[in-house]
Amino acid sequence: MTTQYKVFVNGEVTESITGKYANIVNPATGQVIAEMALCTEADVNLAVEAAEKAFQTWRETTPAERSSVLLKLADVVERNADRFALLESQNVGKPLEYAKGDVKLFVDNIRFFAGAARNLQGLSSGEYLANHTSMIRREPIGVVGSITPWNYPLAMAGWKIGPAIAAGNTVVLKPSELTPLSTLLLAEISIGILPPGVLNVVTGYGDIVGAALARHPKVKMISLTGSVRAGMAVAREAIETLKKVHLELGGKAPVVIFDDVDIPTVAEKMKIAGFYNSGQDCTAATRLYVSEKIYDRFVSELVSAVKSIKVGNPMAEDTEMGPLISKAHLNRVNGFVNRAKSNPDVKVLTGGKIIEGPGYFYEPTVIAGAKQTDEIIQEEVFGPVITVIPFKDEEEAIQMANDCKYALASSVWTKNIDCAMKTIKRLEFGAVWTNTHLSLVSEMPHGGFKMSGYGKDQSIYSLEEYTEIKHAMIKVQ
Ligand code: NAD
Repeated sequence: MTTQYKVFVNGEVTESITGKYANIVNPATGQVIAEMALCTEADVNLAVEAAEKAFQTWRETTPAERSSVLLKLADVVERNADRFALLESQNVGKPLEYAKGDVKLFVDNIRFFAGAARNLQGLSSGEYLANHTSMIRREPIGVVGSITPWNYPLAMAGWKIGPAIAAGNTVVLKPSELTPLSTLLLAEISIGILPPGVLNVVTGYGDIVGAALARHPKVKMISLTGSVRAGMAVAREAIETLKKVHLELGGKAPVVIFDDVDIPTVAEKMKIAGFYNSGQDCTAATRLYVSEKIYDRFVSELVSAVKSIKVGNPMAEDTEMGPLISKAHLNRVNGFVNRAKSNPDVKVLTGGKIIEGPGYFYEPTVIAGAKQTDEIIQEEVFGPVITVIPFKDEEEAIQMANDCKYALASSVWTKNIDCAMKTIKRLEFGAVWTNTHLSLVSEMPHGGFKMSGYGKDQSIYSLEEYTEIKHAMIKVQ
């Protein structure tokens, strides 16, 4: 009998109302490893009720008290890091070493928000009208609904609950139906640290549980990290109550590589930039634009670097890439590659196929010859597939890089500081890296432009989003 993971409401692990469960699968083996409670709108109602009740007292705590609670939460997760990493690796299929990195990110993030809770900023108080003193208050919003994706379940839970709880809100969190296990462990481990009702976790399908959260009138803000499709669905549900909506959606990061780079070094860096987490990363390097002066040499180095990626058992120490998250996603990724081949100019330089056998593995893939307008360039594949296109000058590179509906992250590679600065300014993305890619820090914001959504995760900007700004004015007689 597999372990049954229940829901977490009002500080208790409890059965969902229907008592029904769904299977949770290890994507590296295809085997069922656990069962997740299938919630419905009625469970969401109970969780929101608990969160609303808890909000009445949580909002009265001082920043120092909230900070201390978050520090304790970070400490307990750190002490249980191996347990979290193993569960995350088994549920998401990511190499164990990478899962350990995700736990560290979670801990660092929660510690950052513990500090940030005590550092909220605003305009200075003063007499902007004679005899009237104005001051800014940052009030918590209330019950926040958080919806997370499957690619970094624990880290994304941290991005959501850290700022929400630090600012004095309470949370109802719905993890992905594919990867709820580390979030449920987090909930269980928070007992005795977070007061009952401050964090609640309900599990189940997006269009049932996520949608119920998004439309609930007592949920005052809904924050989703996921696909554009889910973001739009949540925004539609939220419109009836005009709640605050925060969306971290898909990406299709361009990488602009100028002719002065060290070719083997940059080609090697693309192994991580493009294939970390099997390319299932919203900031993954997916569209490589390479100066035509170095294109052939770069592509040859890139192909040998990508061929060297060790794909396999996430538990093996030397594994660099695990499986994709599910059979359906594996077929989806393969579909993108097959459709790309319908352009006769397209060449699959390496990879391009499903790896047969147990688990949902795909070959690390490099595609050349696609046109800027092709689906493979314009749509998010969310798998281990990168494309390479040559450019003749800076103008053309920037134009192609910006020519996409997604605008989350990007990078530029050059030793020329003037060229880097000009490119940074003109790339229309929420993040622009120079000579690096995928590097995140808790102190800096993460969030997109255009169809990649709105609102920031991480950093003080995120904390501010989980507050309402109030102007209080006092007339002095
Ligand atoms: P998804 O959109 O399928 O699911 C994300 C979450 O939304 C899940 O919890 C799901 O149950 C829920 N959901 C789905 N439909 C819903 C609906 N109608 N109403 C409410 N909730 C709903 O995404 P995914 O496949 O889990 O994750 C991959 C996507 O997430 C990619 O597009 C990726 O780029 C994006 N992502 C973005 C970021 C970022 O920071 N911008 C980070 C990670 C992932």
